[in-house]
Amino acid sequence: MSAMVSIADVMSDRPWPNIVVITVDSCRFDSAALARTPTLDSLGPLRRAVTPGVFTLPAHMAFFSGYFPNVMELPHLDYYSREMRQLWRLSRAKQKSRDSYHLQLEGDTLWEGFRKAGYHLLGAGGVRWFLTKTLTQGFDEFLFRGPNDYSDWFAQRGPEDFALAHPDELVERLPSDRPWFLFVNALETHAPYNNGLTQQSPEIAEIIARGAPIWAGRTRRGLHVELGPSDYKALHLAQVAAVEAVDQRLATLFDMLPKPFIALVCADHGESFGEGGNWGHGFPAEPVNNVPLWVGAVG
Ligand SMILES: [Zn+2]
Repeated sequence: MSAMVSIADVMSDRPWPNIVVITVDSCRFDSAALARTPTLDSLGPLRRAVTPGVFTLPAHMAFFSGYFPNVMELPHLDYYSREMRQLWRLSRAKQKSRDSYHLQLEGDTLWEGFRKAGYHLLGAGGVRWFLTKTLTQGFDEFLFRGPNDYSDWFAQRGPEDFALAHPDELVERLPSDRPWFLFVNALETHAPYNNGLTQQSPEIAEIIARGAPIWAGRTRRGLHVELGPSDYKALHLAQVAAVEAVDQRLATLFDMLPKPFIALVCADHGESFGEGGNWGHGFPAEPVNNVPLWVGAVG
């Protein structure tokens, strides 16, 4: 495993450091807390953050506009809470004292800011929303990896259908003569929660087929909820296993990437596993709003 260094040290050595942003799609906070994630934990402490979006589109639009999940609980730490030091600040944002952030980015979006600072922007993923220009237009290049069949929301993903399963494809596209910004949307943790690395029990597919009519909060009068507590527990544990798969794949990616780099890893939104009678995301609820966040540097 690569050595961990402090963000301040990396920033003082390199005015424009390489940056990695990973979104672990739909990963609710307690799935990350229950999972064994040595790679992520070596970045920095796992904290519970509040996300600005309840599904992939608004969450990522907020991220690319500079608003990442924010830790509102004490203690407030640099890079985790808005009250503390920030990694970067967009010039369109309210003026703040210069020592409250590291990188001054010009423009309205991270894409614009990093491009103006000379970065190459590489994106990869992910869930269905990354087939739209809305979420990919700001990248110099975007590599889509996901199931081929998006007519089925719960299409099983094969071992190759994950961007993080192909770290070589990412690393070979990064320039050596200028800084880079690498974004990856990891879909392992998104329903149907099969991660391509560990075997998923056939029971999960059966639960998902039974619960499909109420997916994404579609509980309504007259629609019988077909999932019970043991079903939700099985789905939750499948997501925990998926976070562990992401952690293993990140260990490989972090080893292969040129160092040093700054890394921010978070979920775009969480997932309801039966709370309020709901399954999925796309509506405000405690397990949808609260997401894991890790920030650190790898040297
Ligand atoms: Zn999402």
